[in-house]
Amino acid sequence: MLDLLNLPGIKPVNIYKESKGLIIVAVVDVAEAFICPDCKIPMHKHGTRKNKFSDTPLYMEPVRLEVERPRFRCESCGKMALPKLSFLDDKRRATKRLVDVIRQQCLNTTFRALAEQTGVAVNTVKNIAHDLIQELKQTVRYETPVIMGIDEVNLAGGYRCIITNLTTNNVFGMLEKRTQDHLKTFFNDLPDRGKVEWVCTDLCWPFKRSIAEFLPNAKLVINKPHVVKMALEGLEEEWRKYQVQLSKEDRINLKKSIQWLTLKRYENLTLSELKELAIIREQIPELAIAYDFKESFFAIYDEPEKLQAQNAFKAWKNRLPHDGLESFKRMVKIIHNHYHEIFAYWDAPFTNTNTFTEGLNSLPKISNRLGRGYSYEIIRAKTLYSVEARKVGSGFRSGREKVEYGPHIPMLMKQVESND
Ligand SMILES: [Zn+2]
Repeated sequence: MLDLLNLPGIKPVNIYKESKGLIIVAVVDVAEAFICPDCKIPMHKHGTRKNKFSDTPLYMEPVRLEVERPRFRCESCGKMALPKLSFLDDKRRATKRLVDVIRQQCLNTTFRALAEQTGVAVNTVKNIAHDLIQELKQTVRYETPVIMGIDEVNLAGGYRCIITNLTTNNVFGMLEKRTQDHLKTFFNDLPDRGKVEWVCTDLCWPFKRSIAEFLPNAKLVINKPHVVKMALEGLEEEWRKYQVQLSKEDRINLKKSIQWLTLKRYENLTLSELKELAIIREQIPELAIAYDFKESFFAIYDEPEKLQAQNAFKAWKNRLPHDGLESFKRMVKIIHNHYHEIFAYWDAPFTNTNTFTEGLNSLPKISNRLGRGYSYEIIRAKTLYSVEARKVGSGFRSGREKVEYGPHIPMLMKQVESND
């Protein structure tokens, strides 16, 4: 029989198909005479032993090896011995090459799919993945970002802290939670802490102001999307207030209008949308005023200089009416609480962070696609160690070492889309 196994020490003698895949029966090639390690005398053949092992799929079918080995016995002390099979994994009843295949694929596909392809138990795939993740944690190192994003994303059953490189658009790290404790540990373990010049985050940043304690050269900036989001929410709140006053018919008619009203900038409205806005302005002037305040708040970010932006905010705040628009007034308070970090945006060497935020928002899709039953640890590894996404932008050599930035966010998005 042709040696389709190509495994050292054994040769196939039979192959047949069972419902779960192929069974390949193999025998040991050469049986050398065993010497008893204690008595130093040759051992004698003492029957055979059959064992089953999983191997790499053949013809798209899972493969089980059935290996028959001669057993040897020392007639003096009774010790038993079996020929060693060097191609077996140390920990599992599987060949090393099958474990390698599972390691290569376990972070790119589902455990269930891989278990079906290879015929091993889902738990075995999971264990192999866990071993791999421990190794990756020890060995994979990404370049510390100069401009670091720290955000919260709802992933794998909770809000996780995602740390990104805003210069290269890569994921740098992931923490189970964005608490002070988690971040302190992260900063303490961070190599080249002095490299970080900017930390870009949102309004729920868990530390009071200063970041200098952890990152000596970094300035904190609150990201634009998190600030303008408050204006959108403010407008929505005003809308809900007027909604209750409307007849059911009007409510249905206006519901569509409100969607573009809240989301679209004035200059992007179509002619018919402008007409609708004019109708709203006539029928519910308060709502149109709220829209105008949302718009003029967004316009603050169109200002090219910090001082102009600060003046625009001051003017915006002073235009707010004495009565009503409570949601916008609450916003003013929040902005004053984070004034320095919000206006640091104009000092920062980056402006367009919108596409980046969209990328981050697509991360939860990764865990949704995988379905339930994946722990945070696995989702983290699948995101952070994705082999394909890590290739982008990485790999050039600086000095002697290969520089890696982490998985590229647009590439992660592409992977999610292609799997949908
Ligand atoms: Zn012996």
